[in-house]
Amino acid sequence: MNEFDLINKYFNFPSISADLGIGDDAALFNKNKNEFYAISVDTLNLNHHFTKTSDPYYLGWKSLAVNISDIVAMGGMPKYALLSLSILEPEDFWLSKFAKGLRACAKKYNVELIGGDTNKGSPSISITIIGDVLKKNVLRRDQVQIKDEIWLTNEVGYAALHFQYDSIPQKNRQTISNCLKKSAHQGFVKPMPPLDFIQKAKSLIHGAIDVSDGLAGDLQHITLKNGFGAKIYIDKIPMHKWFRENNFYELALTGGEDYQILFTAPKKNNNKINSLLKKFSMKGAMIGHVSNKKSIQYELNGQPFYLSKDGFRHFG
Ligand code: ADP
Ligand code: MG
Repeated sequence: MNEFDLINKYFNFPSISADLGIGDDAALFNKNKNEFYAISVDTLNLNHHFTKTSDPYYLGWKSLAVNISDIVAMGGMPKYALLSLSILEPEDFWLSKFAKGLRACAKKYNVELIGGDTNKGSPSISITIIGDVLKKNVLRRDQVQIKDEIWLTNEVGYAALHFQYDSIPQKNRQTISNCLKKSAHQGFVKPMPPLDFIQKAKSLIHGAIDVSDGLAGDLQHITLKNGFGAKIYIDKIPMHKWFRENNFYELALTGGEDYQILFTAPKKNNNKINSLLKKFSMKGAMIGHVSNKKSIQYELNGQPFYLSKDGFRHFG
């Protein structure tokens, strides 16, 4: 049973008064006539998401950034955060660096830490985030429409290249430049959800999801879950040229932890979205189409391409 089967089997409680409950990047409930509150929680655990030697500064950054990503995916503005922290010992060095990274991320995205909980226990960092979403521009996974174009906000694969580095065969590893190694490390430790871009583009978008478990898996949540499918052109997916030269498409598409946004939009908005990407100096691109086929077809240089897995699953 993977995490999604588990949630479905045990926790798929019906929504009573929430405007949107389980199943999207964040839940939504009424704030006022024009806005929803969006709320979401994400956790990083020792030995699963980080290790004893992980740089606490970047852990502070990442634990908040992965939550901001879920609010961005709803078309929202992140506002408030609550931090639940479990640690074995209060070590000043670790805590001061962790707090510094958390503060830097909070400052960059204008988020206020308003509460939390501190416990002695197996190290774990859990953040609950609250944001505002304009009702007229909310980006729900189920608002994706047939024939929409599918877009990605930036490149995928850096984080996966970093954390799966040891499993890459020596002959491919040799071709990884120091510069790429550095970008891969930054991608893994310092995700940067594209808040400003999505805020400007949201009125042009139908549906969206953040890429946390890998593009291929997250794509299923906005297509197959809605009864649709997709045609994806791998040549168009923004990724470092190393992945192409080494034929490591699977790593880029299924590795995850990219914290970019996968979104769909009607074809008529193509030019406007491309102009916005340019304006923000982003490497995003249109990568395919939503189809009515109920399957996802990948194409590489005009030929069908098959993935052996689709993404990361806890317990998967
Ligand atoms: P994301 O990757 O966007 O954080 P997840 O894949 O973790 O979302 O979860 C999918 C959906 O299931 C989300 O709407 C999330 O709120 C919900 N969910 C996850 N775990 C639980 C749980 N234990 N109980 C209730 N809902 C859950
Ligand atoms: Mg998400």
